[in-house]
Amino acid sequence: GKSAATPRRKPNVLITGTPGTGKSSLAERVAAAVEGFKRIDVSQLAKEQDMLEEFDEELDTHVIDEDKVLDHMEEHGLGGDAGGVVVDYHGCDLFPERWFDLVVVLTCDNAVLYDRLQARGYSDKKIRGNVECEIFQTLVEEARDSYEESIVKVCASDTIDDMEENEKAIVEFVGAWKSSV
Ligand code: ADP
Ligand code: MN
Repeated sequence: GKSAATPRRKPNVLITGTPGTGKSSLAERVAAAVEGFKRIDVSQLAKEQDMLEEFDEELDTHVIDEDKVLDHMEEHGLGGDAGGVVVDYHGCDLFPERWFDLVVVLTCDNAVLYDRLQARGYSDKKIRGNVECEIFQTLVEEARDSYEESIVKVCASDTIDDMEENEKAIVEFVGAWKSSV
């Protein structure tokens, strides 16, 4: 249930947002900054573990096999009471709500995002699709629809200063965590 106290010893953090907003960079920093924290980059995991479904021509990307990915994640840290996992993915409504204690949605200026995606070598069509996703605040809405309002934090990720600030906020959240057991 939404307000049930979690027995997790450490919190689990989800970092979500449009591709290119800086999820993996931030997750890496958080995992490096907090002793014993583990990270799961869901797209990378799906690729490494061969948990991809068909190529989606429209989205110009592989679709992940959600059932397999979720099972794997449950077995590798999200299912237990230990916590201490930082997950990043450009979606958030596929995960069980109970997995996360903090959901950070990164947002980015459209022009800045455009440049980052172009630097990645994405096609014009794919860049447009992702910038549109950002313009419509798709992930902000998805996070608010999927998680309790009080745990969703929307954070700008335009500059390195923003990234440092976001890292600090997450590290502070983790440091202040009190397990309910
Ligand atoms: P995502 O995982 O959300 O797709 P990445 O973490 O891979 O995004 O970041 C995409 C690119 O943007 C990388 O080159 C990264 O260094 C850069 N970047 C990410 N966040 C920021 C930020 N807050 N300020 C400046 N550059 C950033
Ligand atoms: Mn990433």
